[in-house]
Amino acid sequence: MKTKSGAVLLTKDTPIDSRLYGARAERLARLIGLGLPVPKTVAISMPVVRDIAAGRGPDARALFEPFGRKALVSVRSSPGDAKWGRTNTIFNVGMSDRTAEHVAEIRGKAAATRLYSDFVRHFAVEVARLDPESFEGISGDSSAPQFLATALKRFEREGNSPFPQSASIQLASVLRSMARAWEGTTARLLRRAHDAPDDAGLGLVIQEIVLGKAGAECGSGSLVNSHPETGSKGLYGTFHSEVHGKCEIADSEISDALPCKSVFQNAQDCLDKLRKAERDACEIEFAVADGELLVLDYKPAERTVGAAIAISVGLAKDGIIEKQDALTRMEPDSLGRILHKQVAKSPSRKILARGIGASPGGASGAIVFSSAAAADCAARNESCILVRVETGPEDIRGMYTAKGVLTGRGGVTSHAAVIARGLGVPCVAGASDLQFDQKEQLLTASDGQAFREGDLITVDGTRGEVLKGAAELVEPTMNEEIDEFLDWADEHRDLVVRANADTSNEARVAKRFKAEGIGLCRTEHMFFGEARLTVMREMIFADSAEERRSALDQLLGMQRSEFESMFEIMEGCPVCVRLFDPPLHEFLPHDRDEMQELAEALDLPISRVIARAEELREFNPMLGLRGVRLGVTVPEIYEMQARAIFEAAVNANKKGGSIIPEIMVPLVSAHREMELVRKRVDLVAQSVKTELAANFEYSIGVMVETPRAALRAGDLASESSFLSFGTNDLTQMTYGISRDDSQRFMDAYLEQGVFPLDPFSSLDLEGVGELLLTAAQRGRASKPELVLAICGEHGGDPSTIEFCRDAKFTYVSCSPYRVPIARLAAAQAAIRSRSG
Ligand code: PEP
Ligand code: MG
Repeated sequence: MKTKSGAVLLTKDTPIDSRLYGARAERLARLIGLGLPVPKTVAISMPVVRDIAAGRGPDARALFEPFGRKALVSVRSSPGDAKWGRTNTIFNVGMSDRTAEHVAEIRGKAAATRLYSDFVRHFAVEVARLDPESFEGISGDSSAPQFLATALKRFEREGNSPFPQSASIQLASVLRSMARAWEGTTARLLRRAHDAPDDAGLGLVIQEIVLGKAGAECGSGSLVNSHPETGSKGLYGTFHSEVHGKCEIADSEISDALPCKSVFQNAQDCLDKLRKAERDACEIEFAVADGELLVLDYKPAERTVGAAIAISVGLAKDGIIEKQDALTRMEPDSLGRILHKQVAKSPSRKILARGIGASPGGASGAIVFSSAAAADCAARNESCILVRVETGPEDIRGMYTAKGVLTGRGGVTSHAAVIARGLGVPCVAGASDLQFDQKEQLLTASDGQAFREGDLITVDGTRGEVLKGAAELVEPTMNEEIDEFLDWADEHRDLVVRANADTSNEARVAKRFKAEGIGLCRTEHMFFGEARLTVMREMIFADSAEERRSALDQLLGMQRSEFESMFEIMEGCPVCVRLFDPPLHEFLPHDRDEMQELAEALDLPISRVIARAEELREFNPMLGLRGVRLGVTVPEIYEMQARAIFEAAVNANKKGGSIIPEIMVPLVSAHREMELVRKRVDLVAQSVKTELAANFEYSIGVMVETPRAALRAGDLASESSFLSFGTNDLTQMTYGISRDDSQRFMDAYLEQGVFPLDPFSSLDLEGVGELLLTAAQRGRASKPELVLAICGEHGGDPSTIEFCRDAKFTYVSCSPYRVPIARLAAAQAAIRSRSG
């Protein structure tokens, strides 16, 4: 029904369009449409509000008419979208000497005086824009007549006119002030920050305030029908009773907290109806007058990620939404927050520095600057955070023991980031505002605060923040509901998800998150235990092939048992083992003390150790003697690894397994490299079969990490059963950007729009993506049954997953803790593509 002023009185039959009247008006109309008890409401459209701001109108008398002469109303903003901001609500418009008498009859003198005093002060400051200080410090209680008299006097003194006694004059002023505030510069800037359109309008709603009788049950509050932390069903909220004061409402106390059984029942019914109509858990704002419930507004219920999943699962189980709606409602990346402990959102967070959130989750502990110190901490049962300028292989032991990692250099695919994500250890990388003095064991913040070994810090790898002291942590919430939700995702998913796992522990996590195999086992990470490192160094220092073999024999046993246990954990799921990849020099001792220790262990003069380390030094190790180049020039390493893999498979199969190991060769760029390695691996397989009188199958494939390998995929496919794209190196080599140093300029590049996203986090679909598609097409043309996969860090990135699915890859592989994210992202990609 239209009022005379061009505004509209909301009724069951009033269609309300949020584009014209704003979202609040639309919500209130929906509540009325559902038959819920809403106080009388008039909605003013955006064009009318714009006119008011420009000084045309309003016809306040006509607007007030539906409420009657003695009514009090509230005026609330109704923007098109809640994100675009709002103006303050003004309550009790219409309060005057005359209405105060009417209110006094219903609520008593003191309550009427308090309402009136409060309204005068509010109107003075928010509407008439008088100096707030003039209304502060009025002595006495606002329900005392003297207090009200002073407030009215001050209004007259400051505003040069008496307080308006006419409801329509009050309403006109309130509407004008709200309309103009919306057009003000501050509100415009805020809207722009929230991507609101430049012409975003404001609707306004005028709502009757229903006054309950004195002593009867009256009050107001908010209620929600799902627990904000867990999403479990129940009533939660607050109620401010004018008789009994404020109380929190939680499930069991609900019937005590709300005034009577009927209000409780009505609130429950309202929330149930809304849940069905909105297909979501909602929160209502309500008032109680004389024991009657009135709904003033509603919004989607607040929720953590865990609660959001529980709510969606509940809605789907109750048949309110489809399972696939439940799946598409969740942002896959948000699942990261329920798989790890998180730093609580406390206002007292003392942020020391920001860096890259390289591995999600939060952890607190004492600062340690080395793996040895981390081990000491672990021995004392103390938590520690490993602090390094950047990490290398020698830090892996420390990363295993530390609760968190902090580095000064490196981005999302830096060594620290990759390892930390694999381990599920929170990591902040590239915190370049901090000064790292590794030698002096000193960490200095930009404001000069210094931290030494043992000082407590917290790393927040989700937000990329370093905090002083031990911040409060919130426990992860992985539970049966989340498992069920992910099982639903699997019903829709048509892309296999594997995990990158380097050790038995990581394989266990992968299995727990239902990875369907291991897509990348970086074998070198098995060599960093203290005993293994020494043997590795012996191998590197060996003078002859024979000496090298004897050291490798020791490593053989270690690798075999690790593979065997991984095969067993994965229970027949495929395991893809990557042969040795890093430059040998990464295993060398770095300082004089370590050289001395090694010289003693090897019974060699220290000069030989220093000379050998010097010989192995490279200007550009990541482009030097590593990957398949080692396989070609020092074949004994790959032969030992192939043997370990095959013997482990035979052992596991003897125990009832059905392992078909996959062997992946890194950093290939030429067909001949693959041909050579393949022949040697085949020979080892033949020997193991003969020696152990056992038969087994295996496959061998290329890890595509160089642009040349991508371009020559057709050629390489003839030697391979699969191509798995190592997109960390492939991105590095395609752009010519060091994955460990990109952080120095990445922020500037992103800010200035050179790259839309960090290409080490989200696959560059145009460039690196084109290489993937070219390789896929050429590889398949040469071998139609060729398996295609991705195992770089991008394998856990939702948009890359969609790209891989569209390109009909067989699987994606990502760090174990990203497996749930990848499962959901793959399901969403399938749902999107099927629904066109
Ligand atoms: C890659 O390069 O994408 C990869 C997975 O290997 P790494 O990160 O070990 O170099
Ligand atoms: Mg690589």
